[in-house]
Amino acid sequence: MKNQRNYMAVLPIYNSFHPIMKQKTKQVLEINDEVKKIVADMFETMYYTKRGVGLAANQVGKDISVVVIDVHTVKGFENELPITMINPVITEYSDEKEICEEGCLSIPVLYDDVERSLNIKIKYLDITEKEIERTATGFLARAMQHEVDHLNGINFYDRLSPLRKSLAKSKMKRLKKGDYDVDYFMINADGTEHPEN
Ligand code: ZN
Repeated sequence: MKNQRNYMAVLPIYNSFHPIMKQKTKQVLEINDEVKKIVADMFETMYYTKRGVGLAANQVGKDISVVVIDVHTVKGFENELPITMINPVITEYSDEKEICEEGCLSIPVLYDDVERSLNIKIKYLDITEKEIERTATGFLARAMQHEVDHLNGINFYDRLSPLRKSLAKSKMKRLKKGDYDVDYFMINADGTEHPEN
């Protein structure tokens, strides 16, 4: 058999109601070829959806603490290169908050307003195992908070105000049942496949 490591793959995205999306992911102990392959596949999967700007490993069914982000299409972040974050930890949150609309590849039925810190400090390992500590602001800080939340089993729906949450209830019910259309492969809450439309 040919060495498959060189081939990237588009992976199905897990529904936010799937159990793997509700639990804390495991720390990466070694950045080996398997982890590097998952990172490459995560970027491939994110670009395939054409609208993802970030993806956490549990969103593609992998129980490890890995995030990929690419916000270069967002105004003001044109020079930001793709980011791989392994075992990321947010070490500081600004008191200054901002409310913005968020979406999520695991919740394709809903875009809604979430309050987040405007600025954060975050540390992680990059793909070469180098320790990075950096600050982020605005949309990038928001994307990082959203993705690190995923690694802790938290989805943006959990962060909506009580009012927004109640308004989103019926949409979320349909998501849970798999009763929605989406143009990329997904895995339903019960582990069955959800077709791509
Ligand atoms: Zn998400």
